[in-house]
Amino acid sequence: MTPRFAAASQSYNGAISPATGVLDAGLSASQVMSLRRELAGRKTVLCFGGGVDSTALIVVLRATGIRPEAVTFADTGGEKPETIEHVEKMSKLLVSWGWPSVSVCRKRTKPETGYSDLEGNCLSNETLPSLAFGMKSCSLKWKQGPQDQFLMGAKSGPNTCDPRPVWVATQASGERILKLIGYDAGKADVRRSKNLSRADEHFDYAYPLQTLGFERSDCVKAIATALGPSFVPIKSACFFCPASKHWELYWLAAHHPELFERALHIERTALTGRHSRFDAVEFGADWEDMVRNAERFPSSDTTVGLGRSFAWNHWARVNGVVDADFKVRRELSAVFAARAAALLGEDNAFDSRSCGAGGAGPQQLALIA
Ligand code: SF4
Repeated sequence: MTPRFAAASQSYNGAISPATGVLDAGLSASQVMSLRRELAGRKTVLCFGGGVDSTALIVVLRATGIRPEAVTFADTGGEKPETIEHVEKMSKLLVSWGWPSVSVCRKRTKPETGYSDLEGNCLSNETLPSLAFGMKSCSLKWKQGPQDQFLMGAKSGPNTCDPRPVWVATQASGERILKLIGYDAGKADVRRSKNLSRADEHFDYAYPLQTLGFERSDCVKAIATALGPSFVPIKSACFFCPASKHWELYWLAAHHPELFERALHIERTALTGRHSRFDAVEFGADWEDMVRNAERFPSSDTTVGLGRSFAWNHWARVNGVVDADFKVRRELSAVFAARAAALLGEDNAFDSRSCGAGGAGPQQLALIA
């Protein structure tokens, strides 16, 4: 584990039923049966993202009596502190169940590369995470790649490591590892997953939450039922993720102004740097001028910032989130938090922030029952 992942101190074993010795996640008997039918007898590895869906995935597997061979989490270096704390807490919980701890997988770069995480990658290359350009290489390079290497091993380079026993065993037996992914049955995740292959060269893939018909609110409820409201995490993503919604920008400015400012710096470095694709002729002014003075950016297919069609710096200025030096107006953090809460309903990314600061309370859980 990296130093970011110091051992958590909290101990909690979950809502184990005294009658059955099984974790109570509110699953029906037929749901338990359908999961067992799908997964029984397979060597499984759970890809833990540190957010709501994959936490629910852990809970339902435990409730079903299915124990994965490994639980992996990819640390891009850009996750929010709440997510890191949640991963630590879950890892300790898994160990208390007799499960493998969460294996934190991190891409290692060569010393001469000059950066060691995705944020450094963006700053060094004066670019944005690839999602801002409609591509997925940030996720492939910093998430999928390190998790695959952790399992399969690497023979050379800075990521050299031995393959995991489960990989060695399945290679010898001819079995294929089944990777469990926490896509839920909501529209957004179904859209994301429906065109993905259920198998590639090395692994098979399954989406147990979709088998259960679990939407995001079902995931929150299952976690709160099984582990308690304090185990409902926030949505996991890099603090500079181009997929962030406006309410998440307000939330970040309210709760982590220093991270918000770092995201603004990534964007400014990319859009004003040597690789910038911003065309001042197309927009009638250079990027900095637009950000500081324009009411809005003209409609364009060009990526103008972390928000693709909008620049976080521009958004922050016109919404009064930053001062003239693009520093977050920390005295307004309560206002930003209130704006985030007001906008939340427009998004389906239900998480602990939808349920109050300390996690889902009884009234909120009643609403999603
Ligand atoms: S969370 Fe966003 S920025 Fe981070 S790797 Fe995934 S897509 Fe890229």
